[in-house]
Amino acid sequence: MSRHKLLLATRNKGKIEEFRRILEDIAAGEIELVGLEQFPDLHDVDETGSTFEENALLKAREMCLASGIPAIADDSGLCVDFLNGDPGIFSARWAGSHGDDRANTAKVLESLIGVSDEKRGAHFTCVAALALPDGRTHVEEARFDGWILHSPVGDQGFGYDPIFRPDGLEISSAQMSAEAKDAISHRGKSLRAIAPHVITLLNTLG
Ligand code: IMP
Repeated sequence: MSRHKLLLATRNKGKIEEFRRILEDIAAGEIELVGLEQFPDLHDVDETGSTFEENALLKAREMCLASGIPAIADDSGLCVDFLNGDPGIFSARWAGSHGDDRANTAKVLESLIGVSDEKRGAHFTCVAALALPDGRTHVEEARFDGWILHSPVGDQGFGYDPIFRPDGLEISSAQMSAEAKDAISHRGKSLRAIAPHVITLLNTLG
């Protein structure tokens, strides 16, 4: 059986590593993951949606259309209870410039100065979206519950990991091994949920 090409529609290095680890684990024999570096002319998709699902679908659909091959994308972010769900879909650019993890993390910590432990609940959300050239799509959403720490700890992972303590653990998600984080994270859960649908749908393409 020939392997189907699937475009990983993200330039975020942390996400690319997680996508590869999880999808290759589940579907290595059936899917050939292709990175955006193979399509140097593709430009970034404006995240103009108002939900994680809208943005994930926008990215998957536009990258699929522009490349001509099935594409998988995600939209994810940190939702802090005390901040009424912010930074949410704005997580990557919360402090102004896109992808400045240190500044984003500092901004969340500053807005929680003086907020007690029991009010520091938060979760990550991830919507994984698949788009096929014939217009069919599939999405899966998952969350990762936890708490915001008072200062950054750990140097694994990316983004807000150093200030996020998963429910039931005494360490931050930046102190977890890649495998341990994948097992319980929003991206791990949504990618494991979408993987069988990806295989089924790609197989219908012949
Ligand atoms: P987007 O999905 O590319 O719009 O960006 C999601 C942003 O949310 C990332 O840039 C991170 O700041 C944050 N984020 C999403 N997932 C994680 C995670 O697993 N750990 C830490 N931060 C995350």
